[in-house]
Amino acid sequence: MNLPFRAPPASCNDIPVLRERGQREVFCGLTGIVWLHRKIQDAFFLVVGSRTCAHLIQSAAGVMIFAEPRFATAIIDERDLAGLSEIDAELDRVVNRLLERRPDIKMLFLVGSCPSEVIKLDLKRAAARLSQIHSPKVRVLNYSGSGIETTFTQGEDACLAALVPFSPLPANGYVPPLLVAGALSDVAEDQFRRIFAEMGLTDVGFLPARSAAAMPAIAPGTKYLLAQPFLNDTARALEERGAVHIPAPFPLGAEGTTAWFKAAADAFDIPEAKLRAATEAGHIRARLAMEPHRAMLEGKRIFFFPDSQLEIPLARFVAQELGMEPVEVGTPYLQRAHLAQEIGQLPAGTVVSEGQDVEKQLDRCRAAKPDLVVCGLGLANPLEAEGFTTKWSIELVFTPIHGYEQAGDLARLFSRPMDRRTRLGG
Ligand code: SF4
Repeated sequence: MNLPFRAPPASCNDIPVLRERGQREVFCGLTGIVWLHRKIQDAFFLVVGSRTCAHLIQSAAGVMIFAEPRFATAIIDERDLAGLSEIDAELDRVVNRLLERRPDIKMLFLVGSCPSEVIKLDLKRAAARLSQIHSPKVRVLNYSGSGIETTFTQGEDACLAALVPFSPLPANGYVPPLLVAGALSDVAEDQFRRIFAEMGLTDVGFLPARSAAAMPAIAPGTKYLLAQPFLNDTARALEERGAVHIPAPFPLGAEGTTAWFKAAADAFDIPEAKLRAATEAGHIRARLAMEPHRAMLEGKRIFFFPDSQLEIPLARFVAQELGMEPVEVGTPYLQRAHLAQEIGQLPAGTVVSEGQDVEKQLDRCRAAKPDLVVCGLGLANPLEAEGFTTKWSIELVFTPIHGYEQAGDLARLFSRPMDRRTRLGG
């Protein structure tokens, strides 16, 4: 089996990073509700925001035709903004009505937005007050999904960080050995559980769990792996509970997934043979699934605009596993502690940029003339009009991409736009 991950550089500070501050083109953290409400199946997300927030979440998440929706917006109107109404009492009324009508809700998130932050609405206090009223049937938590200085994946980070203090503490001094933090598709979570069990790790918690009652126990000494690179606040909250980070790359592609499991194996002194037995077949299947895409993408140049915070692990994936050449890899924030192993794998000469000055970055992209541009929706259409082939970065967050069985689908997300362009004769 191939375990090609090189040791990370002594410090990520050694890697030159282009830092930019200026106009940005990103979605806000409310977007995370789109995948979080599917993952935690008895949770409800009540955005406390404006009509704009309601439109964003409604159009991003779509309408649930066969099921009751599990997200909504409590609209803050002009009277509230002017401080003219009793907003706390109104929020209590909305929540009471909702929970009366929906006994299936076991966890309610009050999700802050730009307007609720601007008027300094104290949703933490509101959540504590409402939790007291509705517990133990419903736990009420809060987090911010606002777009003030944040990117769209930070909504998940804020949500998981809010969950950590309420994770159960096991009785009798038991230390749950391993926790995986980061919302995964159910199919990827099931595959990971199976592989961990084959490695001998049968007690593995996943944060978030699929239901409020199943949130994983965390104790001082619990080791945790990150499944997503944008979980800074979650990692901090886990460490405040005494959990210990296992440094690892991210489980994308054959090599990334094997290296992620290897990090767990090393942390628990699992012999190489046992790791190999648990992962080898998946590793081979993943490589085979990626092969046709590699044939199409090898040698092609790719440019990442900062959007999802997945950019660096994705650039590592396309370079190492598909033979592409990352020209510039932009990320909204560089979470150095969590990305050390990924940055260390980028080909020499790759420009890593943090933050955004969109006009300057567009100029660099035009000058570089990459074969494929990964960017937010706002930039994709204008770039396509200029003749570039683009991929929406948000699709890479909405699609199950983690693990061996999804490696082919992940590769296809990069090859499909190239294929479409070829068919169109571009
Ligand atoms: S939270 Fe802010 S950025 Fe997001 S939709 Fe509402 S107003 Fe817009």
